[in-house]
Amino acid sequence: MTAPAHPARLELLAPLTGVMMPLDQVPDPVFAQKIVGDGISIDPLVGELLAPASGTIADVQATSHAVSMVTDEGLEILMHIGIDTVALNGEGFTARVKAGDEVKPGDLLVSFDLDTVGAKAKSLLTQILILNGDAYTALTPATGQVTAGKSVALTVELPAGAEQEATPEQSPSADAHHGENVAAAAAPVAAAPVAAAAVPASADGTVTSDPIAIPNPTGLHARPAATLVDIAKRFTSDIKLHSGERSGSAKSIMGIMALGLASGARVTVTATGDDASEAVAAVADAIREGLGEEIPAGTPSTLDTVAVAAVAPSENPEVAASADAAIAQANAAVAAAEPAPAKDPNLLEGVSASPGLGFGTVHRITHEEIEVAENAADPVAERRALDAAIDRSGLELDELQRRLTEEGDKDRSAIFAAHREILGDPELVEVAGGFISEGRSAGYAWKQAYTAFADQLAALDNEVLAGRATDLRDVGQRVLAQLTGQGGGAMELPQDAILIAEDLTPSDTAQFDAEKVAGFATIGGGASSHVAIIARSLGIPAIAGVEARAMDIADGTRAMIDGAAGILRLNLTEDEVTEIRGRQERLAAIKAEEDSHKDEPAITLDGHQVAVVANIGNAKDARNSMEYGAEGVGLLRSEFVFMDRASAPTEQEQAEVYAECSRALKPGQPLVIRTLDVGGDKPLPYLPIPPEENPFLGIRGVRVGFEQPEVLATQVRAILTAADAGAKLYVMFPMIATIEDWREAKRIYDETVAASGLHEAAANVSVGVMMEVPSVAIMARQFAAEEGLDFFSVGTNDLTSYTLAMDRGHPRLAPQVDPCNPSVLAQIGAAAEALHARGKWLGVCGGVASDPQAVPILIGLGVDELSCSIPAIPSVKAAVRRVSAAECQELARQAVTCATPAEVRALVPLEAV
Ligand code: PEP
Ligand code: MG
Repeated sequence: MTAPAHPARLELLAPLTGVMMPLDQVPDPVFAQKIVGDGISIDPLVGELLAPASGTIADVQATSHAVSMVTDEGLEILMHIGIDTVALNGEGFTARVKAGDEVKPGDLLVSFDLDTVGAKAKSLLTQILILNGDAYTALTPATGQVTAGKSVALTVELPAGAEQEATPEQSPSADAHHGENVAAAAAPVAAAPVAAAAVPASADGTVTSDPIAIPNPTGLHARPAATLVDIAKRFTSDIKLHSGERSGSAKSIMGIMALGLASGARVTVTATGDDASEAVAAVADAIREGLGEEIPAGTPSTLDTVAVAAVAPSENPEVAASADAAIAQANAAVAAAEPAPAKDPNLLEGVSASPGLGFGTVHRITHEEIEVAENAADPVAERRALDAAIDRSGLELDELQRRLTEEGDKDRSAIFAAHREILGDPELVEVAGGFISEGRSAGYAWKQAYTAFADQLAALDNEVLAGRATDLRDVGQRVLAQLTGQGGGAMELPQDAILIAEDLTPSDTAQFDAEKVAGFATIGGGASSHVAIIARSLGIPAIAGVEARAMDIADGTRAMIDGAAGILRLNLTEDEVTEIRGRQERLAAIKAEEDSHKDEPAITLDGHQVAVVANIGNAKDARNSMEYGAEGVGLLRSEFVFMDRASAPTEQEQAEVYAECSRALKPGQPLVIRTLDVGGDKPLPYLPIPPEENPFLGIRGVRVGFEQPEVLATQVRAILTAADAGAKLYVMFPMIATIEDWREAKRIYDETVAASGLHEAAANVSVGVMMEVPSVAIMARQFAAEEGLDFFSVGTNDLTSYTLAMDRGHPRLAPQVDPCNPSVLAQIGAAAEALHARGKWLGVCGGVASDPQAVPILIGLGVDELSCSIPAIPSVKAAVRRVSAAECQELARQAVTCATPAEVRALVPLEAV
């Protein structure tokens, strides 16, 4: 009889109540790219992790945020609660099992406090991963909401004849089950790094590394463990990690995690096999270097250690004795080493989001925690209370909206209109209703519902959706305040507040008095993020992507933000305060001098004039830009006319906005209107675009206009209707990548003109493209030769991102997304040359145009127009006046031959700015 010992299919029960999420959307590449293993992710609504199947617990991390088990069928399952939760050091988690415990489906493994963990972790998304890829043939995840211990979350097809094999005792050093993967992944061995130091081999060919102290501040948790396995699998040798008495396979995440290697723990690497030396060298080097995590400078693992040659103790007792002695000696050497110089605790680094120096006291913006009882006796009464609180919140929002409209504050009014839409969302109310009928209180049910939805949006790692998540939390808090009578007050700020927040959205910024704000520092975002744009338009110094520990700084701490340098300094001494105040005074004097000449043209020392115009989002900005000396508008981001609304603006509504912007300018000044720039990354509720795997490379910008030509045609008609309002109009299309794109956009434009009989208006309107994609720069000559194409406006924010293949809002990569990269500057120079050869012009409307340090180089590259954030206009004009065009050309010539952005910036030292 050869009947399989187990069914060919195993249904894993949902270990959590929550909403299923595709693994590839988890905002952590180690999980999303399935480096740890394949499986599912669940956004939890309840803080209880249950066993998905029968089996034995293999490991519970010391911080209780991750548990692994081996099912009776031999599946190795890792359950990892939240993202980056290892950093919580166990706060909010309580393990209910320990290694070796037998569990049945639905047994409680870990309790965790959703609020504590949710507030401190990057995300609550919980990953359920199968680590031994050879133990199954296919996985089918469930979708939608699942209930812990009841719904099936993942169906696992097992190989025919699967036998019960892995036992928990085997698994920490589980080597065998990776055989296939090892063979498959053996090819890239040559590419693996090889340590400079020779690694000695023992008589039986086992190679052992020097002892290494784990440098990762939070030890070898899931992410570094996955990276380690990825490296180890490049080699055919058997590779093991040893720590004290324990050892585990370097090719098994579970094996590594079961070693419980905390920061500073000593480990040695051994390998046996054909490529043992290379394997040990590569794995040891990778551990020393932090396995992809940032490690504080000078951590012990980077210190010299004593070389040891031995085989693994369990395999050769004779050599093991000498190995132990040598390891002990090495450990002593490591322990005796000087402690690493600590990183300056008073200095927090981020990226520049808005220049200027802000000095004041820290005020953290967190959403006030409103206490709610979990359970309630009478579901009918709770439901009635929730409905009444929602109704009262609706009236409150109506009133706010009405008052702001009366005051002419359309922007803030639109924000509260959007909140009204969120409040009416039937799904939100339905989910809350579901909890109430399970016996939860109205407050608890509502909080669970909106938090889950908001976390889901925020986890998409999309700037606009993250903004919506904050709006959702705002609305949620409003209703909770109504329900409980707690919180709900206006945001009171001290004078000279340095605001620190996970993120700030227009909704937050609409609620405080900008006069009281000395600076912003946000954990999220980058130099081109939404918050950076808001900060620049308010003229407030800001930094983004700042270290997460910023949220731990006590309110009232004296701090300074240097927006240009991208740093936040704490606990300044009196001398430092004096020095900063002196700097502020000098900067204020420079600014006063620049402001006094803001209305004069920007002409270089040798008589070359450069147009300095503004980037705007609405008519109020247009009026404001005139106060700052703008000579027109180089970029109207027309998507702002479309955002925060439940339906698309009509042609007439659009025409009114464009005409109002036009009337705000001086007659004949340029008004460059960019057609709608939305897409998969910036969705509009009424313009459905299916979710895309890679929205920045998908249907965005003008491609939306091609999918929905009527949207583009309506906008063109609205623009042409506003053509006689005073300013000289220019239309440009975003995200043009090919000549065909340009021709198609122009065809829709021409056909709209012809169909609507707006020829006369069109005669005074110029048409151009945004240069945001490198293909346009490379083919600038061909574009310049196109009939009807009058100009380029360079969107350096996107151009830099697409040139370097780095997300401009990525918290880790953003510092490298510098438009002063020579590769970007070279594209601008080449495009300017191509356009000038045809008598056409080129402007720059990306953030670099507002950077006085870059201005001389841009002039030298042949840029005709600088379109800046409004407050930067006087200083950009001053930067133009400080230089000669001839000197700028020489700078540009050098800049494009530089090797790095730092070299480029060194050409124009900040003191010279
Ligand atoms: C740019 O990409 O530089 C640009 C100006 O467009 P946006 O920042 O609106 O994408
Ligand atoms: Mg852009």
